[in-house]
Amino acid sequence: MKPHGFRKNLENGLHWTAVNSDYVCALFVVPTPTVDDSGVAHLCEHLVFRTSAAFPEAHNLFALTTLTACKINATSRNNESLFYATAPDSETLAKLIHYLYAGLQNLEYGDMTIAQERDGVIFQELTFLEAQPEYQNMIRMWRDDSRLHKYYHWGGYTDTIVHLSLKDVQSYKRQYYRPELIHLYTSGISEDLLVQSLQEIRSIDTLDPAQAITSTRTTFTPPLDSYYPKLYNFERSHVQLLSWWLPVELHRFCLDNLARWRKQFPELWIEEHLIQNQKFAIRTTRTDWEYLGQTLSNTIQDEWSMSVMTEQVDDKYPLAIQLLLTEKFEQEAQQLSLSRTLAPHKVLTKQPSQSSLGNLPRFETPILPSTEAALSTASILKDWPYPLSIEHAVTPMHIINLLQDACLHSSESLLQAPYIQAQDWVMQIDKPAELIYPKLLESEFWRPRTDGDCYAMGIFSQDDKIYVWAVSDKRAEQRNHWLSSVFN
Ligand SMILES: [Zn+2]
Repeated sequence: MKPHGFRKNLENGLHWTAVNSDYVCALFVVPTPTVDDSGVAHLCEHLVFRTSAAFPEAHNLFALTTLTACKINATSRNNESLFYATAPDSETLAKLIHYLYAGLQNLEYGDMTIAQERDGVIFQELTFLEAQPEYQNMIRMWRDDSRLHKYYHWGGYTDTIVHLSLKDVQSYKRQYYRPELIHLYTSGISEDLLVQSLQEIRSIDTLDPAQAITSTRTTFTPPLDSYYPKLYNFERSHVQLLSWWLPVELHRFCLDNLARWRKQFPELWIEEHLIQNQKFAIRTTRTDWEYLGQTLSNTIQDEWSMSVMTEQVDDKYPLAIQLLLTEKFEQEAQQLSLSRTLAPHKVLTKQPSQSSLGNLPRFETPILPSTEAALSTASILKDWPYPLSIEHAVTPMHIINLLQDACLHSSESLLQAPYIQAQDWVMQIDKPAELIYPKLLESEFWRPRTDGDCYAMGIFSQDDKIYVWAVSDKRAEQRNHWLSSVFN
């Protein structure tokens, strides 16, 4: 397949591709290389949605995704972050592009804002992840010694993220969030309307051409105030880890075969992400690596075909965004060099590189000072042209299951107290929808999330009842008091 979007550079520096389709959507692709284990790119991603000069309220994203049919989100992998939005019409999309670009280019954050997102939300998120056995396996592999090939953890760890400062965020964004490094893909919006939605936003300064980075992969002299990668001395265990580094061309094939290979070799792992030189690792703690390597090499030689080179689009994205990603992958496939694809499976018959498994993070839960936050209303929904309703709100599957569990096992009414499992909870709101919807526009409702007590929260309706929920909430037990204060 050939890319067929119309490509052009906008005046503010952004690279822009317009794709012709019936969808109305936009996708910003930002290069966010993982240069250390601090989690700085992760913090920057969260902050994009948090606040900006044009949209100061911290709960805009939650009000928008709960009360409208628009989809708006971010994901990061392989050293880039994708920020996307879908909308019912082009005027609405222009507003969402304005919101996203204002967040991308914002450099001003208060200390409390940084603390709530870093020591609150992300800390809760990482604590939850670091308790999962499979995640523990992966991070122990990453927390090994520093070698030429090393996986830095994009998300950061509970014992590294807390050390990030406002200055780190500003210098990382100045270096990688500059408009000339960002590629915007759109469908269903005219150039005039797009330019209009971007023009009121002050872009992060463009560097003079002598300092400009043309690619995140080549060596360059960083500008004076660029982000300086942090070094950590993680403790290591005595368990030996062996790694083969393979080129990107084999990545999809290997991931697709992992489950099959694991039946024979349970101590086998394949990294889901690429490092900056476009390689990925196959890892094992087995000592009979020659037998393992030869077996995998044989399968790859027999079954791998060069024809499946274009990356497959993940179906977790909305259909509209899958279309834009197809265009992106096709543009990239055209640029891919095939020169180093000669017999890559042979790598597996060579001696793997050696390191050892690291220890798991040991952390202290940071203490967040409490605040008297000023009340505000979500400005992104001001004069919204469609009726607001919670019918499009997305709820995680495990929360739906939690509610089912509560109905089966709890003798307590879900009206009196939240039903809690670990730090996740669900609770019924005994108010009519006409009273609830206006509250969802207000900052007070979203404070468990914006104050950094929980990782995610939301609302949904089932069998004519309305429920509120949260994930990884430090104050799960007190939520009945919080809810009654919201409605007082
Ligand atoms: Zn996160």
